[in-house]
Amino acid sequence: MAEPWRDVLRDAGAVREAAAVAVDAALLAGGLMRAGEQPRASAVVNYAPFTLLPSAVPRALFEQAYAVQQDFNLLVDAISQNKEFLQQTLASTIKVDDFTAQLFGIYKQVLEEGLAQTVFLGINRSDYMFDCGVDGSAALKQIEINTIAASFGGLTSRTADVHRLVLKVLGKTKEASRLLPNNPSQGLALGIAKAWELYGSQSAVVMFLVEEVQRNIFDQRCVELELWNRNIRVIRKRFRDVFEKGSLDGSRRLYIDGQEVAVVYYREGYVPQTYDQQNWEARLLLERSRAVKCPDIATQLAGTKKVQQELSRPGTLEKLLPGHPEAVARVRATFAGLYSLDEGEEGDRIAATAIADPERFVLKPQREGGGNNLYGEELRQVLEKVKDSPERTSYILMDKIKPQPTMNYLLRAHSPLQVSECISELGIFGVYVRQGQEMVLNEAAGHLLRTKATEHADGGVAAGVAVLDTPYLV
Ligand code: ADP
Ligand code: MG
Repeated sequence: MAEPWRDVLRDAGAVREAAAVAVDAALLAGGLMRAGEQPRASAVVNYAPFTLLPSAVPRALFEQAYAVQQDFNLLVDAISQNKEFLQQTLASTIKVDDFTAQLFGIYKQVLEEGLAQTVFLGINRSDYMFDCGVDGSAALKQIEINTIAASFGGLTSRTADVHRLVLKVLGKTKEASRLLPNNPSQGLALGIAKAWELYGSQSAVVMFLVEEVQRNIFDQRCVELELWNRNIRVIRKRFRDVFEKGSLDGSRRLYIDGQEVAVVYYREGYVPQTYDQQNWEARLLLERSRAVKCPDIATQLAGTKKVQQELSRPGTLEKLLPGHPEAVARVRATFAGLYSLDEGEEGDRIAATAIADPERFVLKPQREGGGNNLYGEELRQVLEKVKDSPERTSYILMDKIKPQPTMNYLLRAHSPLQVSECISELGIFGVYVRQGQEMVLNEAAGHLLRTKATEHADGGVAAGVAVLDTPYLV
């Protein structure tokens, strides 16, 4: 891929000066996270880590990612309404994976009772890398789609302004003017506001369901402030608060602290560690309610790795999106090779292939949030261990995407300034609102570019591996 900043990278003095300006500009712009040492209050904050320079992204692939986002919104929504598909697809997984089984249990229970919810709000982020072919050409390949708690739609809007300034400091005024504006939190808030409006109760609030420890609170505040600007009241609660103070009335309206809740926006709830018995009860209460859940439990299940793998089977997309052959083609073009490890011949064969050549694959359990996937020698060892047991079914295999690395500086508080070999991951935010069977909003809401040093196989910004970046289209 093009390296537009080659001259700059060699000039240590200019880099040092630009980095100092960049850090202060990021702090001024509000690109913030609570400090790791004091994550429960905002008394001590750091800048959210970011690259010194924007990273080159092929324009055609960037446009392709935007162009397919409405299709992905339709697809996720269709999966969430397809009980047969979810049941069949997850049948093998829930036998061996307790967390997915618990989620699925709530899903079934809610369906049996009958949904009280009539308005549906999806906020997702489809993540991609640029796979480098043998001929040097790059292709857009989806890593995954996040259907719950997709983050950094707020903070990412601050990064482009900082990079614009950095390029000016480095004498690249023309290039600075080419950086795109980007504010996903506005689009996310628009979706939440629409769902709130359709819920139809002026006095009802939007509830952000948040973690016990909220290090990334400023990212969430960006969305929150957009809602306050529209005079929509926002409250922040944890599962524990819902367990202690949440209730449903006769028509399953959700109340907490005496306030009716129109929309529940989950920024929590996607890892098993969140849930003790009480928090599972709280989750069930929320799901049974009339409130608009973003996402509802079906949409969370639609984002599992197992579903992603089954989507790549020939004929599946056609069944899920009948009458949309162009959308099917656009979606399929972004798929990397994905393989089932279910018991049987198909699974035996691919497991043997991966054990023989682990560098070709990534082994993924049904987990979110980074740091769970297995690569290389570790992949081989784990697969050796589980290959003849039902536990194998809790994983999927995926072709490893191999992007062309570029050089950049990753700016992180308390870290030395040094150049790193990096790869980037592009995310596109999708927002949609459905009322009954009618899609009333379906949009791409902005993008997120994250970059990490190639020495790390896995992990996001929150995990301290990736940093925020801005695409520089080439
Ligand atoms: P999670 O739900 O934990 O975020 P992901 O599927 O997004 O799981 O994987 C986490 C990280 O691992 C990604 O951000 C990416 O850096 C890396 N990764 C995942 N899948 C692949 C792949 N097929 N090829 C190369 N890297 C991958
Ligand atoms: Mg991910």
